[in-house]
Parts: sequence; structure tokens; C-alpha cells
Amino acid sequence: MNRQTADLYRALWAQVSADSITRWLKEMIAIPSENPMADAARPGHREQEIGEYYLEQMRQLGLTVGSREAAPGRPNVFGTRAGSKDHPSLMLCGHLDTVPTEGYDEPYAPHERDGRIYGRGSCDMKAGLACYLEVARLLQDADVTLSGSLMLCGVADEEWQMIGSREIGRNGPFADQCIIGEPSNLAVCPAHKGQYGFFIRTFGKAVHSSIPEQGENAIERMARVVNALSDYNEELATRDPHPLCGHGTYSPGVIRGGDLASAVPDFCELEIDRRILPSDVAEDVRKDIAQRLEPLKQQDPGFRYELSDPSWDIPANDLSVEAPVVQSLLNASTELSGQSETAQSFPGATDAPNLKTPAVVCGPGALAQAHSLNEFVEIEQCVRATRMYLRAVVDLLA
Ligand SMILES: [Zn+2]
Repeated sequence: MNRQTADLYRALWAQVSADSITRWLKEMIAIPSENPMADAARPGHREQEIGEYYLEQMRQLGLTVGSREAAPGRPNVFGTRAGSKDHPSLMLCGHLDTVPTEGYDEPYAPHERDGRIYGRGSCDMKAGLACYLEVARLLQDADVTLSGSLMLCGVADEEWQMIGSREIGRNGPFADQCIIGEPSNLAVCPAHKGQYGFFIRTFGKAVHSSIPEQGENAIERMARVVNALSDYNEELATRDPHPLCGHGTYSPGVIRGGDLASAVPDFCELEIDRRILPSDVAEDVRKDIAQRLEPLKQQDPGFRYELSDPSWDIPANDLSVEAPVVQSLLNASTELSGQSETAQSFPGATDAPNLKTPAVVCGPGALAQAHSLNEFVEIEQCVRATRMYLRAVVDLLA
């Protein structure tokens, strides 16, 4: 940082307003934007209303705005503060949807207590979206002309199929670098695992359960499948780890089979979840499974199985720790905390790999609260996050 940019950063830094961040955050919590998941999008269960709100706030902050629907009622919204040049450009990106609120007592009544803001979406991730607005406000109030362009981006459907970020990955906008303010407790996370899931299906022969010896039981066959995979995690742990993500994992998640206790079941399916490393290839995951299941045919000549098309296919993210946006956030974090900060892996999957813009995850709030029935974010973390984002804006765009 040269003298001039250091002065700019300090001036902006001092103006960060907790009141302004919490006002936006509370207003956004009060706008239901639950992901409809497998159901149809409808008021309260879509991004339409929160998207309109966010677009209007960006417009009032002097950004050039636009939106595009990833599906009816499910917009992505954009706002740009153009620099004197097109590059470099930085995107601040966050999802507009929240997880459902079943069992949540007053999810849309934001309230403040002990330095925290409570309500559905508070930490995942309307706090990040509020911090982005604060960054735009500070730039506008200081009438700063940046050399590069800053883009804010509100995305639909992160919590389900990620149709919003996939749409952006196809049609833009694109930037040189991106920050995603998912709740990482402000840890700087340039990498995360991907999620790859599919169904393993076993087959049998249905007969009356009083003569099981004449049938072939698909559930018993699935039991052998589960056993054959029981030490898969141990094997994954022996493979080369990713420097930030560690090892890939396997977890059997859903099992279904049989209709009646009085019939030998001819069908069973097991959905598995594989958390994959950036270096993992889907085809290899399927080969791993097949290699463990093929030997079962030797003991049971009727044994037949099928691997379905993927039920989940979210890529891993892997931005270099040396990327300027990562270094900038790490420096800001070290400065703010007074201790040396190192890059980490984000535990969950995010929009990052879909955007086709190199992205790092870093935002206020903790994942432990994210999908809970008592969601909150600490105001102090929002202020810090805003300062970290400002540092990146100044480092990369000034
Ligand atoms: Zn999230």
C-alpha cells in the first residue's frame, strides 16, 4: 500500500457505521426469502422481494444496477460502481435466499441483544450483504474514484440447486476476483471441498416373505454394500491431502427399500455423500465405489447394482493463497486481530466455483448458527468484515 491508498483506507475505515449496517441487516431479515427447495417459488419462498429491496438499496448508493431471473421469481441482482478503467475488478457476492424456518420462533422479527442481531438469515448471509452495502455507501459518501470496478452481486438459490450462481457462471457478470461473505467467522477461506452424491441401487427378486429362501433380498444385498464401503474413509485418509481441505470423506446418508414386511424386497437404494477435494474427479469417485462392489458378485452370483446419475454435483473451490484478494484479506485480518492469520478451508460448499470468477470465502458470523433455529450475527464481526472488504477494495481497485 502506498501512502495515498493507505490514507484512503484509513479515512474509509474510520467511517464504518455499525448503525448503518444493522439497519440494512434488520430490514433484510424482515423480508422473507426462504428457499422453496423442491416446491414452487411463491411469495416468502423466493428471492423476488429481497432482490427488489437489494437492487433499490444499490441504486440509492449510486451503483448502476441490473437483474436477471435464474427462474421465475428468482432473480440475481447486480450493482456496479465503475472505475476509471475496466480492470481490475472485484465482485462482492452473496446469496439472497435463506434456509426454511419451520420450528423457528419469529424468524422475521429481527432483534438486537448483547451486541448481536437475531433472525433467520442474520448470519447466513444477509450480514454479508449488509456489509457490501456499507462498502458502497462509504465509497459514495467519500466520492472516491477508483481505478478498477466494484461489483455487488445478490444471488438466488444458494441453499438448494445453486441455479443463481450457475446462471452467472454462464452469462456473467465476471470479475477478476470475488469475495463471498458466507459466515466463516471472518476466516479467509480460498478453498473448500465439493459435494458429489448419487444413489447406489441393489436389486432382488420379490416373493412372499414366508418363503424368503425362494426370493432375493435387495435390502440384505444393500447391507453388504454398506459393509463393503465401511472402511472407505480410512482409505481416503491415506491419500494425499489438500493443503487446506485435508482429506475427502464419504458418508451414507439416505436408505430406502421394501414396501411391506410381508414381501422380500426387490429394490433398495442408498444415497451417498462424497466430499471431494479440488483434485478429485467424479469418474474416479464412481470407480472407487465400483471397485469395492464388484467383488460382492463372487459370493452372490445374482448380485447386481447400479450407480445413478449424480444427485449432488457441487465443485470444490481452490483459489491460490497467493491471489491478491486472499493476501489483502489476510493482511486486513492480521491487522484487525493483532495476530498472524492464515488461510483456511471453508467447511461447506458455496457458490464460489460456479461463478467462473476466482473467489474467496470470508464473512461475518459462524456456520454453527447458520442453519439453526436461533440464528444470530455479532455486530462487531459485521464492522470488521466491512473493514476487511474495504481493505480489499483499496488494495485491488484504488
Ligand atoms: Zn450461506
